[in-house]
Amino acid sequence: MLDQRNGGTYPLLIGGEARQARSGRTFETLNPATGAHLADVAEAGVEDVDLAVASARKAFEEVWGPMRAADRGALLLRFAEVIRAHSEELVELESLDSGKPVSAIRRQDLPAVIDTLTYYAGWADKITGTVVPARPDALTYTVREPLGVVGAIIPWNFPLMIGMWKIAPALACGCTVVLKPAEITPLTAIRLGELALEAGLPPGVLNVVPGFGKVAGQAIVDHPDIDKVTFTGSPVVGRQILQGSAGNLKRVTLELGGKSANIIFPDADIDAAVRAAGSGIFFNTGQVCSAGSRILVHESIHDEVAEKLAARAKGMRLGNPQEAGTSMGPVVSEVQMNRILNYIEIGRAEGAQIVTGGARHGDQGYFIEPTVFANVRHEMRISQEEIFGPVAAVVPFKDDDDALRLANGTVYSLAAGVWTADMTRAHRFTRKLKAGTVWVNTYGPTDIRLPWGGVRDSGFGREHGEEAIDNFTEPKVVWINTGPA
Ligand code: NAD
Repeated sequence: MLDQRNGGTYPLLIGGEARQARSGRTFETLNPATGAHLADVAEAGVEDVDLAVASARKAFEEVWGPMRAADRGALLLRFAEVIRAHSEELVELESLDSGKPVSAIRRQDLPAVIDTLTYYAGWADKITGTVVPARPDALTYTVREPLGVVGAIIPWNFPLMIGMWKIAPALACGCTVVLKPAEITPLTAIRLGELALEAGLPPGVLNVVPGFGKVAGQAIVDHPDIDKVTFTGSPVVGRQILQGSAGNLKRVTLELGGKSANIIFPDADIDAAVRAAGSGIFFNTGQVCSAGSRILVHESIHDEVAEKLAARAKGMRLGNPQEAGTSMGPVVSEVQMNRILNYIEIGRAEGAQIVTGGARHGDQGYFIEPTVFANVRHEMRISQEEIFGPVAAVVPFKDDDDALRLANGTVYSLAAGVWTADMTRAHRFTRKLKAGTVWVNTYGPTDIRLPWGGVRDSGFGREHGEEAIDNFTEPKVVWINTGPA
């Protein structure tokens, strides 16, 4: 449900107030299923980010930081309840702005948002230090203190869910947040900010500054009064963020891309493996950092898997994301569509075999046919580079060592899957695969209770679970002399 705002503009949220940008500038967001104008949004500039940081600092120092931890937790639980009460509105808004099917948002994103908030609300009053008996003549202990003001910069593929992955633990720890959504999907982040106020979160605790990466994003990265940047997005921008953050030595967490391998052995349940491989690459139109975009298949079952995967691709229902029966929506923008189509051409030119798909679907909106390339060679660009679209590369391998070499043979290390009935092999692969998560005989599930992230070009640091508490707090040592002074 698009809030028409009397023909007005979706605002910035700073210090609990809906505001227009200081410059008066706005930008438009489009519906990727049609390419049509969806809404105008206030465009945050450097001055607006300054104001947002000042209000976040004030809220941190005066209200949120000093608040009793259990009260913070209770407010976060109330925030979760308000989101639940507005679920359907958020589902529709997210779908209109990002092109994600409503069915997927209802089943996955929205429940994950509520689960995340509820989980971290529970953490708020359980963030403890330790008494460490360092000396007999002293009481020595640690406390964990919130870092302060957090800048959260998020991508467009899961605006609500990834937004909440950052907001919930930061707020639970007592930090305040300046959130910058991606410029092509800003609407649900703004609604989240409004719902936080409705739930009673004090003004300035969660500020939202929609705008462009090079301006509003960069202003967050450069800001001397931001203590931490938590970022999800591309490796290119991740590197810029790391360099920019050096100015005041901000803490940085980077969740970047992937080119994850999903490895299928002949002793696996092939139909189950193919089902999971299909959702592993086609879920969210392939716009998933942990998409199983490389399907490594033992050469003896390569053709069978490629054909069965192609049959699954053909069974996907592309169409209006607001219709309940749609299983695949458009990709998020014209730029992304052209980028993916270009990769499909590269795959063709490299000599990979297209089993199904390989073209734009229709001429309205940004739809791409789910595509399966078979007999892909490891060195090909479609096997090395993140496409971030519904394009599977099926790569044959000869034996276990070959599978491991290929699986670990990209610049990314985010996730991997292995399908086999041989538990010895499964354990060996869980040890040897370079990835933040290894799935065995499944592909793709995540849970907020488990750490999430990668290394190398997939970034560093972990979100989720207890690890996220460490991300937003700093230990302090207290040393009390109990001996002679
Ligand atoms: P992107 O890096 O272009 O943009 C991400 C965010 O960064 C946006 O909000 C953008 O405005 C902002 N940004 C851009 N330039 C900036 C700058 N110079 N300074 C500060 N902020 C800036 O990425 P994208 O195209 O939006 O998202 C796709 C990428 O995100 C893919 O590579 C994907 O793998 C990755 N991703 C990773 C995860 C994960 O958990 N590891 C999850 C989702 C997406």
